[in-house]
Amino acid sequence: MLIVMHHRATPAQVQKVVDTIGEMGYRAKPMVGHLRLAIGLVGNDGGVDSARLAGLDGVQDIIKVSKPYKQVSREWRDEDTVVDLGNGTVLGGPEVVVMAGPCAVEGRDQILGIAARVRELGASVLRGGAFKPRTSPYSFQGLGLRGLELLAEAREATGLAVVTEAVAPEGVALVAQYADVIQIGARNMQNYPLLKKAGSAGKPVLLKRGMSATITELLLAAEYLLSEGNPDVILCERGVRSFDPQTRNVFDLTAIPLVKSLTHLPVIADPSHATGVRTKVTPMARAAVAAGADGLIVEVHPNPPDALSDGAQSLYPDQLSELVSQCGSIARAIGRSLAPPPELPAAGPASGRVVRDVR
Ligand code: PEP
Ligand code: MN
Repeated sequence: MLIVMHHRATPAQVQKVVDTIGEMGYRAKPMVGHLRLAIGLVGNDGGVDSARLAGLDGVQDIIKVSKPYKQVSREWRDEDTVVDLGNGTVLGGPEVVVMAGPCAVEGRDQILGIAARVRELGASVLRGGAFKPRTSPYSFQGLGLRGLELLAEAREATGLAVVTEAVAPEGVALVAQYADVIQIGARNMQNYPLLKKAGSAGKPVLLKRGMSATITELLLAAEYLLSEGNPDVILCERGVRSFDPQTRNVFDLTAIPLVKSLTHLPVIADPSHATGVRTKVTPMARAAVAAGADGLIVEVHPNPPDALSDGAQSLYPDQLSELVSQCGSIARAIGRSLAPPPELPAAGPASGRVVRDVR
C-alpha cells in the first residue's frame, strides 16, 4: 500500500503517517519522487485499516498495489531504477551496458587477459564465476576464493566492474567483499535464504530468471531482495526450458518488454545461456537490444574449446567485437547507445585497494 502525501504536506505530517504505520505493526518506507512524496507500507497489507491513514493530515491518496509483488512493481514506483555499478557505469538509464567474460575464472592469465580484451572491445563489466553451480558434482566447481581474488585483480587492472555468483547463503558476505554485483543464478532464483542474504549484503544484485520460472515468480524473487532493503536489483532473462534440444534453452524475448512494463527495475539479457550455441549468441543479443534490454551479459573465452565450462556457447574475443558493433547500431536506432568502457586505471602500484569494503 502507498500513502501519497499532498505536495504541501509538512515534515511533521509525514512523520505522523510514518509513526502511525509503525503503531499498526507495519514498516514505513518514505520515498521522495520527482513529483510526489509517498510512504510505502511494507508488509502483508491485506487487513490494513486504510481509513485510519486516509484521515491523517497531509494525506492525499491511498493506493492499493494490486500485484502480489509490491516494491518491485511500477505501481509502487513509476520511475526507472538506475543501478550504479561503482565504476562510472550505470544500468537502467539510456545506455545499454555490455557485461562480458568467461563462464568461470580458470586462472590468472585467463582472467586478466580476457578482462583486458573485453574492455578494449567495449565491455564495462567483467563476468566470471568463482563458485559454479554445476549440474554434475564431477564438473569444475570454480576456483572459489582464489577466483574472487583474481577478479578483484582484474578490476584493478582494467577498471571494469565485476559480477560474480554467490551460490549459498553462507558465501554471500565473501562474494560481496570482492564483487561489485552479486549474481544469483537461475538454479537459485527461488533459494529464499540466499535471496535474503543477498538482499542485505550492501551490493547490487543480478537476479537471473529460473529455468522454469514464470514472470510473476521472477518478480516475487526480486521482491525478497527489495524487502530486505536492497533497491539495486537487475533482472536477467536467460532462457527457459523447452522440449526441443536444438538449443540449450528458449530465449523468451517477450519477457524483456513485458518485465519492463511490470517493474521499474532494469532488465538485461543473457543470450549465451539462452541459446547455448555460439553462432546464435550475437543474433539474440541484437534482438535483446531491439526489444529494450538495458544490458547484455555474454560469455567470452580466449579459447572456447578449452573452456572448463560452457565452451560451446562462449564467443571468441573477435566475435564480441562484432556483437558490440552491431548492438551499438541497434541501440542508436532506438535512441540509445552502448555504455562506454571505463577509463583504464592509472598504471603503477597501489592504484587502489584490491579488496573493497562492503558498502
Ligand atoms: C552463468 O552465468 O554462468 C550461469 C550459471 O548462468 P545461469 O544461472 O543463467 O544458468
Ligand atoms: Mn555459464
